[in-house]
Amino acid sequence: MEQTAAAPLEVYFDLAEKVRDATGITVTACYQCRKCTNGCPLTFAMDYYPDQIVRLLLLGREEEVLHSATIWVCSSCETCTTRCPNDIDIAGLMDHLKSEAHRRGIVRPKGNPTYAFHKVFLDDIARRGRVFESGLLNRYLLKSGEWKAKLETGTLWGDLRLGWALFSRRRLPLFPHGVMNKQEIRSLIEEEPGAAETEGDENT
Ligand code: SF4
Ligand code: SF4
Repeated sequence: MEQTAAAPLEVYFDLAEKVRDATGITVTACYQCRKCTNGCPLTFAMDYYPDQIVRLLLLGREEEVLHSATIWVCSSCETCTTRCPNDIDIAGLMDHLKSEAHRRGIVRPKGNPTYAFHKVFLDDIARRGRVFESGLLNRYLLKSGEWKAKLETGTLWGDLRLGWALFSRRRLPLFPHGVMNKQEIRSLIEEEPGAAETEGDENT
């Protein structure tokens, strides 16, 4: 039987340029050494490894990337970014992809803790220009559903003891503090359309 040759894989420069324009990250610099993936602590829970996410972007398969679980599994620990010999900020790329998926209304895994943290963190920055740790922790626990799980397993008391220890050492403020140029920071955040949509978000 006559065999037909597979079509050669080609770099989809339009998408690579779009990513670079939005983030300053040059995915075309990747030469697939996989150092990012080999250092990532969360590959066991990913459907695509970090180097594969970069590869898929280079091949123009944006929809596949935006629907992947990987972008919501990534905890932004930056190990991959530190290890990349070509200075590709893969953690920053994952953050951008989270925002892009959210902007397009692509459904996240329900109750996803990374998504919950992403939301409450950006909401806090948009509101005050900086994070209020005590409030962020409470909202994260409620939004992610961890509050209930911790109550059921009894691990909440350990968290409360740690919170008290931090508070008594003045490491956890009781009241929020804003910054001078809140409006400037808010306008930067509002360019990320997902950031301000806390109410009525059906995916958490
Ligand atoms: S470490 Fe950098 S160059 Fe190597 S595969 Fe990952 S993104 Fe590509
Ligand atoms: S930032 Fe995300 S992709 Fe990179 S090593 Fe950490 S968890 Fe893995």
